[in-house]
Amino acid sequence: MVLKLHNTLTRKMEAFKPLKKGAVGIYSCGPTVYNYPHIGNYRAYVFVDLLKRYLLYKGYKAKHIMNITDVDDKTIRDSQKEGISLKAFTTRYEKAFFEDMEALNILPADAYPRATEHIKEMVELTKCLLKKGMAYKGEGGSVYYAISKFKDYGKLANIDVKKLKTGASGRVTADEYSKEAAQDFALWKAYGKEDGNVFWETEISRGRPGWHVECSAMSMKYLGKTFDIHCGGIDLVFPHHQNEIAQSEGCTGKQFAKYWLHNEWLLVNGQKMSKSLGNFYTLRDVLAKGHSPASVRYLLLSTHYRQQLNFTFEGIEAAKASVERLNELIRKLQGIKSGSGKTAVVEKEITAAAKKFESAMDDDLNISEALAVVFDFAKAMNSRIDDCMMSKESAAAVLKLLQKTDSVLGVMSFEQEKLPQETMKLVEERERLRREKKFAEADKIRSQLREKGIQLDDTPEGIRWKKIS
Ligand code: AMP
Ligand code: ZN
Repeated sequence: MVLKLHNTLTRKMEAFKPLKKGAVGIYSCGPTVYNYPHIGNYRAYVFVDLLKRYLLYKGYKAKHIMNITDVDDKTIRDSQKEGISLKAFTTRYEKAFFEDMEALNILPADAYPRATEHIKEMVELTKCLLKKGMAYKGEGGSVYYAISKFKDYGKLANIDVKKLKTGASGRVTADEYSKEAAQDFALWKAYGKEDGNVFWETEISRGRPGWHVECSAMSMKYLGKTFDIHCGGIDLVFPHHQNEIAQSEGCTGKQFAKYWLHNEWLLVNGQKMSKSLGNFYTLRDVLAKGHSPASVRYLLLSTHYRQQLNFTFEGIEAAKASVERLNELIRKLQGIKSGSGKTAVVEKEITAAAKKFESAMDDDLNISEALAVVFDFAKAMNSRIDDCMMSKESAAAVLKLLQKTDSVLGVMSFEQEKLPQETMKLVEERERLRREKKFAEADKIRSQLREKGIQLDDTPEGIRWKKIS
């Protein structure tokens, strides 16, 4: 089945055709490491993870690159405020970012290139644009991109650039007075004393790169002049991604990314979660309240990426309950040691569920429908188990399907939890007493275990325990 994706560039659903058979190159804009990312930022990263995992599920080889912006106005400003080096400052937040990414079970990218380690590539790209007449030097050694020289400028966001008001992109700062047009943007920023000791001596001038040029230079270095998919949050469509296109295509004359995918906002009370509005939660904030990373991940991925998602703590609780429902089924399946039931019938249900899951995901990652398929299937399997209609072989096959599904979702837990030895001994003791029909004593132990947060269920398969809160 063909995967269809909504391409921002054409504003259409398109069948995904990779440049190279069986392989896909993905670039996604990464964090600016000047603070702890909030969970809105992680919606963007969880979305790319879902996309990548589904491509892997479909058998593609994926090469995924995510940049780390470790030099810009904010990182320079805030490291100076603290009186520490830019490197020491950004390393702190980079570390936090990687910890969060791991907690959220986001598959690592193939490379996380840092801006400060690719100055050479950015200077080369800037020189190329100067040579082609797409860029010009301003006073003081800054270099600007002349957007009037790029025919399709505005196409990605469907913006008529001529209608944009002068200066609409924001304040023209003192160092930008030599721009020829208000919408032109800096490829290279000449040194100013506010930059302190952050600068590079280059052929262009002493200074540092602009933000947009970073992504063009690094994506092309790792993925080639043309690659398959470029992702980011919806706010990056214009001007950031438009500028990336202008820079890359302006220099190479080739198409930059073929498919552009953008995720919608995570909202709080109807407003975008953002640092500047102060309405944000970092992952640390949420985990400190006792929530698990799996609940946060589930919440972030369970709404279609092109729809806005309102963040609430009730939403996290609901996500937790959903994840627990799946994990409980997994525990039950793992506990099946015998049992009857027609294996062929279950096989059929497995095949049908897998097919429906795939056709939902093929439809521009229609996650709500895909999850509905998973939960309908889980319900049917639970009934089978309750009716003793699940054989050991079928249970193994169901587990295999859940595992495959979770290679995309990344929220389930397949590791069989172990109880501490002492508690396990109590479980066994109670089982022995029950066999000996010493029910009063057996019940006493059962209550004791309940106080410890362990619930025992007697099933045809034997005793089963689960943790309760
Ligand atoms: P930044 O570090 O601000 O460049 O943001 C990193 C990524 O997070 C970008 O792709 C943004 O578009 C995305 N992002 C920021 N805030 C939100 C939000 N509230 N909801 C979804 N994505 C967001
Ligand atoms: Zn970018």
